[in-house]
Amino acid sequence: MTRKILILGGTAEAAALAERLDETDAPFEVTTSLAGRTRFPNPIPGRVLSGGFGGIAGLKAFIETEKVDIVVDATHPFAEIISENAYVACLAVDVLRVMLIRPPWSLPPDGKWLEVDTMEAIAESLPRISKKPFLTIGSRGLEAFSGMPDIHFLVRLIEEPEKPLPLDDYELITGRPPHDLAREKEIVAEYGIDCLVSKHSGSAATEAKITAALEAGISIILQRRPVQLPGLWTQSVDECLEWLLSQA
Ligand code: NAP
Repeated sequence: MTRKILILGGTAEAAALAERLDETDAPFEVTTSLAGRTRFPNPIPGRVLSGGFGGIAGLKAFIETEKVDIVVDATHPFAEIISENAYVACLAVDVLRVMLIRPPWSLPPDGKWLEVDTMEAIAESLPRISKKPFLTIGSRGLEAFSGMPDIHFLVRLIEEPEKPLPLDDYELITGRPPHDLAREKEIVAEYGIDCLVSKHSGSAATEAKITAALEAGISIILQRRPVQLPGLWTQSVDECLEWLLSQA
């Protein structure tokens, strides 16, 4: 019997999982859903929905109407709202939910890095540490760094923003992960970067910037990951696929 899988996506792992499922003979019907933040997302096999469900109620209704058997929460570790919605909705309609969450980066204990809870806390400590930070936090949360005219930010986004960024002094570059180490090292040198600011996403596709910063000996400030929700979780596409195949 065909089993219906809903992948909550927006990550490289979610796209890779959809691809791997597409290659199997297992009787799965796969839908991937995206928030719709990226105007030109990379192609994903199978059915792709974009734009959200309308909160917990909308997600519950979708799962029930579409008769979804398994929800895979493969969203970014910092996408807290959709993950909580999935947690609550799946409990309410008694549908299996598995999380696909990449492990954190392995950072050397003696490296020049620190982790803090919020972007506001990062912004507070930044002037003591940096004049030219490389801000790689995505487009949300940049407001925390407004009103800092003495700091020249290098910001990297996936796509050109529709409006100017809420920063006093910045330069913008665009680039889509994966990022390679050679280019990350060049960026650090070329722009005179003295600090890397990022979320502790743990993504393999963006890990090169961490390596480049460690090798250059510059500071790294990371936003700590939110607390992980309860439930079944897997740490890699392989592990998640294996579990899904066990449910076929
Ligand atoms: P969020 O704050 O957790 O979610 C906000 C709302 O966006 C949700 O209530 C939901 O709308 C919609 N949404 C989010 N992810 C969705 C998905 N995969 N499918 C359908 N609707 C989704 O999310 P966010 O932090 O803005 O992240 C948005 C997307 O970007 C996520 O898919 C995430 O995987 C990806 N992403 C996030 C980050 C990050 O740092 N947060 C980084 C890289 C990629 P409704 O309530 O209408 O359902």
